[in-house]
Amino acid sequence: MPDRMSAEDVGGALIRRGDRDYDGARVDAVWNGRKPDRFPDAIVRPASEEDVVEALAYARSHGLRVAVRSGGHNWSGSSLRDGGLLIDLSRLAGCRVDPATATATVGPAATGQDLVAALAPHGLAFPVGHCPSVAVGGFLLSGGLGWNSRAWGPSCADVHGIRAVTADGRTVTCSETENGDLFRAARGAGPGFFAVVTAFLLGLHPRPASIMTTRATFPLSETGSVTSWAVRAARESPPCVETALVLRASGEPTATVPAGPRITVAATAFCPTREEALAALAPVHACSFAADAVSRHQPEPTSFTTLHTGAGALWPSEHRYAADTLWSSEHYPSLLTRTADTLTRAPSGRSLVLAPVQPVSEEPSLLRNMVFSPLGESYLVCYAIWDDPAADEANTRWLRETMTTADPSGCGGHYIAETDQEAASTRAQRSYTPADWDALREVKARWDPENLFHSYLAP
Ligand SMILES: Cc1cc2nc3c(=O)[nH]c(=O)nc-3n(C[C@H](O)[C@H](O)[C@H](O)COP(=O)(O)OP(=O)(O)OC[C@H]3O[C@@H](n4cnc5c(N)ncnc54)[C@H](O)[C@@H]3O)c2cc1C
Repeated sequence: MPDRMSAEDVGGALIRRGDRDYDGARVDAVWNGRKPDRFPDAIVRPASEEDVVEALAYARSHGLRVAVRSGGHNWSGSSLRDGGLLIDLSRLAGCRVDPATATATVGPAATGQDLVAALAPHGLAFPVGHCPSVAVGGFLLSGGLGWNSRAWGPSCADVHGIRAVTADGRTVTCSETENGDLFRAARGAGPGFFAVVTAFLLGLHPRPASIMTTRATFPLSETGSVTSWAVRAARESPPCVETALVLRASGEPTATVPAGPRITVAATAFCPTREEALAALAPVHACSFAADAVSRHQPEPTSFTTLHTGAGALWPSEHRYAADTLWSSEHYPSLLTRTADTLTRAPSGRSLVLAPVQPVSEEPSLLRNMVFSPLGESYLVCYAIWDDPAADEANTRWLRETMTTADPSGCGGHYIAETDQEAASTRAQRSYTPADWDALREVKARWDPENLFHSYLAP
């Protein structure tokens, strides 16, 4: 490799600030309709692992810090930084399934829906993210709270290995037995990871033959009683049942639910048979005050694809978003009652709060050898969703006030995948246990001693 590479030596076409294609490439890097005012010096879209090696060599030889992007779904647009080189991996989106070993080798820009489509013909499944368009890159690196994670564990528990290009330009494979420190960091470090992952080796599950779902919607004013019942029922349900509460400021009316402030309880069972799925859903379906429901659906069969379609409707594309997370030691009913109150004052009726009950397995064997961990009794994600650029400030302010209402002492934890990294410089650190945070800093010092890679975004 020459000492100082020229742009022509970089595979994947380098786009520099000022080039005709620069603005489009910069804006396309972030899925959120609200684009950060941050401007890399150059953007490259490698088509192969060799191109990634060249891109990193170019960055080193030009003194450029490196940011990485897979699917661009980080709400804070963490891949867009001022200065440096943005490596946009959107062309590395392959999925290769090996049914004989029930494994898949997946490029970082492959999306949840790509993976579902590749696995379905083989009767296999993976805890993909809830939204179809989220790429596996940032999702798996953050830990991954996917469909059926209450039974299967965080999605990164099924990452058996990664291929990565490191700061010094080496291509390495990492697993429990090879480069174990980097492998452990890759299971949770999220947007602070310090190498470029070019492929994930995933372990797969037999696809549950019967997936069934049920839901009931109530007025938001009933949040306290609905939450007390739903959380009790969810905890009585076997791990194969995923229960989530969705609180909406007003939302769009649907065929069965009129617009208005609502709380919806949705439960989905992932089981081998219809009978087992119905039995698993029974605690949530048996609701003593069902008569108060604005709408109620009997358990019905569904699929990963239909679940994706439904979840995708919660987060329409081409909208402006701000999001934040909280792991809290407080019980859900009081936490959500306070949060519901702020939701009634949201500047945008589309905004919502999602509270999955026990979103991830707490089984120690599914949480080992990773820096991701559940950090509280209760978990919620708050999303401000709007479309008028003039309302950016009002909506961002509302999100931050809501999070302060939810966590007045500021002692709660966060989930790095969806936390508002621009809210406070402590957001990243509070996404980890103190021991995991210290471990992450040590491993970064070993693998990226000169800080070639940007670390966590902060205000
Ligand atoms: C609509 C929507 C729904 C979501 N639903 C869920 C959900 O159900 N469960 C959940 O856990 N999360 C969810 N998320 C959060 C999501 O997991 C994170 O935003 C994640 O970062 C998205 O991955 P990405 O590759 O698209 O992100 P990007 O924005 O491309 O990447 C985010 C950061 O990750 C790092 N990174 C990404 N790829 C690589 C790589 N190959 N090598 C090294 N570093 C890399 C970089 O630092 C980058 O800045 C959701 C997000 C959205 C927008």
